[in-house]
Amino acid sequence: MSGGVAAKTLREEGYAGRIVLIGHEPTPPFGRPPLSKTYLRGEETLSGWLVKPESWYEENHVERVNATATRVDINSQLVELDRGKSIAYEKLLITTGGENRRLEVPGADLPGVFQLRTVADCDAMKQAARPGARSVVVGMGFIGSEVAASLTQIGVHVSAVLPGRAPLESVLGPEVGEVMVGIHRDAGVELVAGDEVVRFEGAGRIERAITRKGRELECELAVVAIGILPAVGILQGTEIAVDNGILVDAACRTSVPGIFAAGDAANHMHPLFGRIRVEHYNNAEKQGAAAARSMLGSEAEYGYVHTFWSDQYEHKMEYVGHVREWDRFVLRGSVRDRKLIGFYLAQGVLRAAVGLNRGGDPELDLDDEMAAAGRLIAKQSRPDPRALADEKAPLT
Ligand SMILES: Cc1cc2nc3c(=O)[nH]c(=O)nc-3n(C[C@H](O)[C@H](O)[C@H](O)COP(=O)(O)OP(=O)(O)OC[C@H]3O[C@@H](n4cnc5c(N)ncnc54)[C@H](O)[C@@H]3O)c2cc1C
Repeated sequence: MSGGVAAKTLREEGYAGRIVLIGHEPTPPFGRPPLSKTYLRGEETLSGWLVKPESWYEENHVERVNATATRVDINSQLVELDRGKSIAYEKLLITTGGENRRLEVPGADLPGVFQLRTVADCDAMKQAARPGARSVVVGMGFIGSEVAASLTQIGVHVSAVLPGRAPLESVLGPEVGEVMVGIHRDAGVELVAGDEVVRFEGAGRIERAITRKGRELECELAVVAIGILPAVGILQGTEIAVDNGILVDAACRTSVPGIFAAGDAANHMHPLFGRIRVEHYNNAEKQGAAAARSMLGSEAEYGYVHTFWSDQYEHKMEYVGHVREWDRFVLRGSVRDRKLIGFYLAQGVLRAAVGLNRGGDPELDLDDEMAAAGRLIAKQSRPDPRALADEKAPLT
């Protein structure tokens, strides 16, 4: 996503030189969100999610090389490929994204145990996800939660095993976590909370998952969604600084001149939030464009006030800002109706907000409200919590 957007931006900004896009997936750059939602449920192809249609790359002289980059040779300014070839660069942008964390338990390599990142992963999962099948979803972060919802929607029974008490609790807090518990339970998902899978069993194919607390969850498929690690293997042995991703400054420049990074793999010095590595689509898109402009010599800081969304069943969630630790959570709206905005404050400063199902009511518009919250966050505002909680005090 980030690499494709960067190539597009370079051309839009008038760069006429050679652009080579190296990637080991066969498809042109695309957005992954439908892989846990509409595409997984068979409701949509990926054509609407391409950064640019396949023909654009040829028409705009962007060379796509379908290969794995194995090493960056900084001294010779070369990217080495798995096929023994190498490509010379003047400027290099690294957008290798993330790799799924693997569950290191016995049976994790049994057929029927899936993870989800690529189209091929999704297609393989779809084959096994027949209506009436039983599945185990391991991890209830965003991807686990969305997969649990989509599988349920296509008639697959889901048991979801999660270490905490509630889905998304570590990112959104216990209040919103509790709402997500209700949403998944009402849809028929069995939440196996406070537990973890210690083993998969089956004769030649997965038949059950065994948990630490001794549950035996019979299943025909399992999906492991326990987070990602930044894909930084190709930088091993180089002097490019890496610490939870590729360290870049506010303008997406790495510690080595002429080399830039963006997207899930980049750990960015954000002018507002400090060091932050973001694993979301909107950032991949906007940071890819920002990094391209930096490659062309711009010194501008990338200060995007982060946003992301998640769709689960009919529920639409949006998030703006960034916060890891907060000391006050303020709720506007109704937990019972599942129509709410939650505000996260740290020492009185509004740092982030999450919205759930605020669209559809003429008085409430989720996009407007989140944009208004974003402006307050960008200004590092200290809003009165009573006003935040009060529906009659318009956020806009
Ligand atoms: C199933 C799923 C659903 C998602 N849903 C949402 C959502 O609803 N909302 C949201 O905000 N975000 C969502 N995301 C996250 C979003 O897709 C990512 O943040 C985004 O794709 C990151 O873009 P990127 O360019 O950094 O990495 P990617 O898009 O992952 O691209 C990295 C590319 O680099 C390639 N690559 C890696 N190493 C090498 C190498 N050595 N040589 C060659 N190629 C290499 C990879 O194969 C890949 O093609 C979802 C992610 C997944 C997996």
